[in-house]
Amino acid sequence: MLIKNQDYLRRRNQSLVLKMVLEHGPISRAEIAKKTMMSPTSASRIVTSLLKEGLIREKKISTSQVGRKAIYFVPNEDYFISFGVEIDVNRISIGMINFVGEWLEAKSFYCDTASSESVINVISDTIHDMLKRQKFSESKIIRICVGLPGIIDIESGVVQASAQLNWRDIPLKKLLEARLPYEVQIENELNLKALAEYEAFQSTYGTVAIIGFGKGVGSSVIVNGDIFRGAHNYSGEIGHTTVDPYGVYCPCGNFGCLQTYIAEQFLISEASKTRTINSVNEIIRYYERDEKWAQNIIDKALIYMGVAINNVVCTYNPEVVVLSGSLIENYSTIRDLILETYKENIWKPLLDSFELKITNTRNKGVVMGAALNLQQHFIDNFDEKGD
Ligand SMILES: [Zn+2]
Repeated sequence: MLIKNQDYLRRRNQSLVLKMVLEHGPISRAEIAKKTMMSPTSASRIVTSLLKEGLIREKKISTSQVGRKAIYFVPNEDYFISFGVEIDVNRISIGMINFVGEWLEAKSFYCDTASSESVINVISDTIHDMLKRQKFSESKIIRICVGLPGIIDIESGVVQASAQLNWRDIPLKKLLEARLPYEVQIENELNLKALAEYEAFQSTYGTVAIIGFGKGVGSSVIVNGDIFRGAHNYSGEIGHTTVDPYGVYCPCGNFGCLQTYIAEQFLISEASKTRTINSVNEIIRYYERDEKWAQNIIDKALIYMGVAINNVVCTYNPEVVVLSGSLIENYSTIRDLILETYKENIWKPLLDSFELKITNTRNKGVVMGAALNLQQHFIDNFDEKGD
């Protein structure tokens, strides 16, 4: 037990020093010891082993005294390369991001996502191509994280169900790892976007909730930097909370789920009862022309968006709620209206308990969050046994 504890402490201290260099580099040995509250000897020993491993490198910076250069430490940018991948309906986005969060290359293109096979081909071919163009050192570590809408078994990387992609029980991690010689993680896209939003706030808030209104409705909550998953990673599926058991049929098999009042295809099918409508844009055009039927649909969606915000606030008590998703990001009319109206649906005692914000990371959020997720996982599990 003692050995186990010592081992845990050693790994925790290594992670701590690495985090310091990533967050505060260029940083000196003395500053590392001070910020981590370690003894100068321990901090220095870890710095030496991280240098040997190639995770960090020295940077000599001139001090005020003529001719003197002090030694500082910075992360080795190319040591760890993340591929963040987003699978959306008929669109794939891939970003190659280095250890310090710089984007080396980004691609976004059409892909027939109904076939998981073609998605796997396209992702592995693109990553191979992107890597071929870069000249990394041999010692680099490459990891891949894929975000998509759906219920995911994090351990096995199996996509259990994705209504939007029409996938069921796809062992995505296994299939991608068979094509690429790197470790792959699979995540729910909104969880990744929530991580990116949390990071963008730079620890201003402890509990951050994100709600996505688009082709589906979902939410994710980050508590002190970690995704709140629940027992089986089903947490946040608010789109399928029942609002009216006698309501409209939802593809999940239930009736009157929250998303049946908000998600794009439900708005379009509701509108199609009155006019030939193919897009949310058309409904908004009629709304702006004061057509009663269009006003009914949009007003009802706004009320249920307010209900969704209220339910998330009542359940998780977040300090900030971030709104995202295609309905918010692509339609300024809906974005402005929800900001104007949401308060009417919030339980009054909680009205001032949170701030409502619109996504900052927008269409880059999932890829950014994927890279952050990989980096966090790498640092937390980093174990250099050479010292
Ligand atoms: Zn449902």
